[in-house]
Amino acid sequence: MRPPTVDRRPSTSAALLLALLAACARPPPPRPPVAVAASSVAPPVPVDPERVLAFTLTRSLSDEVGPRLAGSPGDARAVAWALREMRRLGLTNVHAEPVTVPVWERGAESCEIVEPAARRLVATALGWSAPTPPGGITAEVIEVSSLEEGARLTREAAGGKIVFYNIPMAPRRDGTDYGRVVPVRSRGPLLAEKAGAAAVLVRSVGTDHARRAHTGSMGRDSARIPTAAISVPDAESLHRLLRAGPVRVRLSLETRTRPDAESANVVGEVRGTRDAARIVVAGAHLDSWDLGTGSVDDGAGIGLVLAAAHTFTGTPAPRTLRVVLFAAEENSGAGGKAYVKAHERELDRHVAAVEMDAGTGRVYEARVRGGAGALARFVGMKDALAALGVEVSTDPAGGGADTGLLRAAGVPAIDLRQDATLYFDVHHTADDVPEALDPAALDQATRALEVALRFAARDDVDLGRVPADPPGASGSPRGPLGSLAAR
Ligand SMILES: [Zn+2]
Repeated sequence: MRPPTVDRRPSTSAALLLALLAACARPPPPRPPVAVAASSVAPPVPVDPERVLAFTLTRSLSDEVGPRLAGSPGDARAVAWALREMRRLGLTNVHAEPVTVPVWERGAESCEIVEPAARRLVATALGWSAPTPPGGITAEVIEVSSLEEGARLTREAAGGKIVFYNIPMAPRRDGTDYGRVVPVRSRGPLLAEKAGAAAVLVRSVGTDHARRAHTGSMGRDSARIPTAAISVPDAESLHRLLRAGPVRVRLSLETRTRPDAESANVVGEVRGTRDAARIVVAGAHLDSWDLGTGSVDDGAGIGLVLAAAHTFTGTPAPRTLRVVLFAAEENSGAGGKAYVKAHERELDRHVAAVEMDAGTGRVYEARVRGGAGALARFVGMKDALAALGVEVSTDPAGGGADTGLLRAAGVPAIDLRQDATLYFDVHHTADDVPEALDPAALDQATRALEVALRFAARDDVDLGRVPADPPGASGSPRGPLGSLAAR
């Protein structure tokens, strides 16, 4: 389905839709305080969630739009929501920029042990998985505990079987174990396919112990065999049963790949007062997985960048703040690529990019990456951030999945690292709903984001340019949580 607007002049039907949406809109919420004035780390103050704009916006997106897989009807609703909310919050130059996105759909799915004793497993297809034949695949399961072991699979061992990757992930504040484990989603199926496996099950890449399966992309160019994630307790059961004897599982997936569709990056600005040609980007991604409502990933990031931008409408900065809500981060990264292409000629006027895509946790650390002297300038913000409980790290920022190409083009990156201890409990699951949001943490994160954006939007701050990656470096975007952090 085509989004309602893909250029600056809404079509008639889009105008009607927007008018309808506007008629249903609630009155604007009260504006949060603009300045961060605390002089020391204050004890936690009870927060009224209804006054936390980042929270109420995220809830609105979750409730009124819901899941929004790239190219789906929900994706088009999300574009309309973002245009409406940006205008309501007082942003200007609000428009949609067309992005062609690949389209994958989940369909019905089921998985059960058929031997030694029948029971259902909680399973969900990984994004881009091929479907099973009608009636599913029933086969014996063999377990492997690492990708190295997967690389040693032989046709004798794996041919015609279901290969089960059982690699646990540990919770950490910086979420780094995700980067260690997540290659199982793309490389694991490729290795199994090479050894002639019929299908793949992966232990969910998640840190919870609930019966929920975590989806995520296996990559469009990964294996063509059906691949599903099973919940952590189901993975542990399967492991125990396999130690006792042979286990047969039936897996049925009705996934579908459709022709490319039109989606959009949604862009809005608060124009600078003195140095408006220079641009600070605050980004998050508009699409989400389909199992929940994408409240934590990345509804929270959308709420944060919009709430921080809203404070600029009351007190604009010297430079222009540009909010970019990127399309299709989860299924392809098409939105990040399209933005860089569409804005190629003004990239030298992009002075910093901040991407929020790490959930609903408090910000505990800030990092910068720019030219020589960027860190020294950045340290000047130390006290304003310390007042919010945020430390400045001397380690370089990585940028995010959507802004990684900006960084590669030399645009300085600022990372605000959020506490991710609980993030991977619900990430990419049916439990990624508004009830998983933490309004008090979102309030703190909004303030930290505002501090960082106001710093970069001053007309006397020069963070220089990020040097090109050394020859031989992969050049791939590395977000705060690792190379595939946000996916
Ligand atoms: Zn994300």
